[in-house]
Amino acid sequence: MSDAVPPSTSLPAVEIAAAVRRGERSAVEVLEEHLAVIHEREHEIHAFNLLMDDHARVAAAHVDRQVAAGHDPGPLAGVPVALKDNLCTSGVPTTCSSRILEGWCPPYDATVVARLRMAGAILIGKTNLDEFAMGSSTEHSAFGPTRNPHDPARVPGGSSGGSAAAVAAGFAPLALGSDTGGSIRQPASLCGVVGVKPTYGRVSRYGLVAFASSLDQIGPLAPTVADAAAALEVIAGHDPLDSTSVPEPAPELLARLGEGVEGLRVGVVAELMGEGIAPDVRRRVEAAADALAEAGAKVDDATVPAATYGLSAYYLIAPAEASSNLARYDGVRYGLRVDAPTTAAMNTATRTAGFGAEVKRRIMLGTYALSAGYYDAYYGKAQKVRTLIIRDFAAAYESFDLLLSPVSPTTAFPLGAKAADPLTMYLSDVCTIPSNLAGDPSVSVPFGTGDDGLAIGVQVLAPALAEATMLRAAAVLEDAVAGNHPGGRR
Ligand code: GLN
Repeated sequence: MSDAVPPSTSLPAVEIAAAVRRGERSAVEVLEEHLAVIHEREHEIHAFNLLMDDHARVAAAHVDRQVAAGHDPGPLAGVPVALKDNLCTSGVPTTCSSRILEGWCPPYDATVVARLRMAGAILIGKTNLDEFAMGSSTEHSAFGPTRNPHDPARVPGGSSGGSAAAVAAGFAPLALGSDTGGSIRQPASLCGVVGVKPTYGRVSRYGLVAFASSLDQIGPLAPTVADAAAALEVIAGHDPLDSTSVPEPAPELLARLGEGVEGLRVGVVAELMGEGIAPDVRRRVEAAADALAEAGAKVDDATVPAATYGLSAYYLIAPAEASSNLARYDGVRYGLRVDAPTTAAMNTATRTAGFGAEVKRRIMLGTYALSAGYYDAYYGKAQKVRTLIIRDFAAAYESFDLLLSPVSPTTAFPLGAKAADPLTMYLSDVCTIPSNLAGDPSVSVPFGTGDDGLAIGVQVLAPALAEATMLRAAAVLEDAVAGNHPGGRR
């Protein structure tokens, strides 16, 4: 086992932005370099559903003109950004990798998309995902799977697999994903990049196509912790268009990244280190705990007993919310319509043709869990478990500032290995789901490789709104890996 991180070929986003703002690099040149990398390897990886190269060229030229005129285009000036294809982009197809949205173009930008544009970022394309973000491998896309850039025979994880692969392949130094049960962190872990799930409400969900509204959060995937922090500073902050948006300004993150972890209390979550976690993954988490201790943190074992039931509660709550959210795809309002003699038959024909097998499975699970007679036994019970998880985390955070755990139980698995077995696939999320249910932030930081030489991410979890502390620890882990390997990522 080594702790070298598979290299990402992306230049850090913050370095690109700094050079573009100073006029040392042109945004057009940066864009063309990334498009060249895409053209070289995209046919093999399939990170994108759609390349926005024409839009991107216009936006990049605009950034260069702003710089030439002495104006500051913003903190992400000239940074190419890949967007998960469940984020609405005005006039640009947004498919959720589903046939049911075929031909639909949103009439508005998601808040995060508008904020990226305002910050000078260059939107280069829409990335592949598991249909409606339901999955852990990006194999449930109606447009075919994405492949892991470190080993194309393996999955990139999911559901934000296209975004993670785009960053890992050097197609973009920054991407956005969405995370309902792990969909940013798990692909980040499997692709060797940084992935942040912010506090629920930290980032506006306006314009994110809803999967499970009480769990969904948008967040960045990036080659470095600093890049993820820079992106989060841009996309976070109150938005009146999302009623669950936290009424707080975006947190200051970048300026605090170097503060270290001296004196912080860090707990390793015992319940997430046991059965089902591969020994090489467990060893990397232990090595991360040692690295934080060496940097001055007080590390100990922590317990979040109800976390054990997170997976079961999630696979009732998320499908229940999905079954309601996906009722809107009726053949009338969006995308696909399969005509039939009556409205009801048209609805059925459209949904039968438009949704893939996993989405149908979730809708059936959710409808069942919500149905009269079963509601109390399933949905109601799952909500009670959710409350226990929230309480157990709150109790743990009385003794600890941060928690540590694996992200994914294993490194990237071969394509097809779990596709036919939903339960095995669902188990991929066992370590990531608890913080979605609690609404707390968490990050996957690359921390070396497993016995197979593939990337392993370590998860740092924090209480609500403590992203700054969480990312300080992530930066310490990043430095620990880079320090061990001077030829490494930074
Ligand atoms: N893999 C999980 C699921 O299939 C999580 C998905 C997500 O976070 N969007 O539901």
